[in-house]
Amino acid sequence: MFENLSERLSGVFDRLTKQGALSEDDVKTALREVRVALLEADVSLPVARDFVKAVQEKATGQAVTKSVTPGQQVVKIVHDELKSVLAGGDEADLGTLKIDNPPAPILMVGLQGSGKTTTTGKLAKRLTEKEGKRVLMASLDIYRPAAMQQLQVLGTQIGVDTLPIVAGESAVQIAKRAKQQATLGGYDVYMLDTAGRLQIDEVLMKEVEDVRDAVNPRETLLVVDGLTGQVAVEVAEEFDGKIGISGVVLTRMDGDGRGGAALSMRAVTGKPIKFVGLGEKMDALETFDPDRIAGRILG
Ligand code: GDP
Repeated sequence: MFENLSERLSGVFDRLTKQGALSEDDVKTALREVRVALLEADVSLPVARDFVKAVQEKATGQAVTKSVTPGQQVVKIVHDELKSVLAGGDEADLGTLKIDNPPAPILMVGLQGSGKTTTTGKLAKRLTEKEGKRVLMASLDIYRPAAMQQLQVLGTQIGVDTLPIVAGESAVQIAKRAKQQATLGGYDVYMLDTAGRLQIDEVLMKEVEDVRDAVNPRETLLVVDGLTGQVAVEVAEEFDGKIGISGVVLTRMDGDGRGGAALSMRAVTGKPIKFVGLGEKMDALETFDPDRIAGRILG
């Protein structure tokens, strides 16, 4: 399948060093390889271009051309740059949620099938078990009764309360009821699992906007399937533009995707990827680790 980028770069530099001294052009040739590898890892073209430019500046600034192991040195520069873009400057943001001023509303948004309901359960479990929070979950998916039941079942399984289902309410009405119950019941957090669609549509966006305005969420987390590459980036741009997200959860990172979507999404939205989903089980959620994803993109 993919040739590992580190090996590919070392190969290029080995060929070059046999010719004698390395020039800046040689470094450029190698960086072309970096760009191809990024594209293969599903990074979007403009992001890959900007990234390579940044690396080029760093590589020429450092004595890569004089190094005896230029390949390794470029790989290190690429790795460090990947890590820094992925972390986005504030690693303290990763794996943390703003949940002061109880009850803190957390709005979960994303396309259907992205793993939204599963992630709602995983986060609720984490907040309950690791942070000792009292969490209430509510499904706003008025179009799919099965989705509402799915959340109830998850709640029972992980021991987290869910808002009782009342037929005929609008998403905003359910959100308001969740807020009321969370306030009266002394919950720290209430999580609103919004309805997803197979594609972004105006009606869905309007509904999510109305819910957002009704509860003023402390966190609006976009759940995206990490295997969907470019689509994930478009989804993130769209949701961030319309709703305004505070962070991203990338699911299916247990799959064999290369993680390029993470880089594009971070670069395009500027919003932190806070968690990654690593499976279907309720404890398969981890804090996003820029170092690990950088390694994965590098191959
Ligand atoms: P929703 O429509 O966005 O609410 O999606 P669901 O939460 O119902 O998830 C859709 C499917 O993806 C389910 O079968 C989940 O078990 C599965 N899923 C969710 N997150 C992950 C993950 O991180 N890894 C894997 N392998 N499967 C996941």
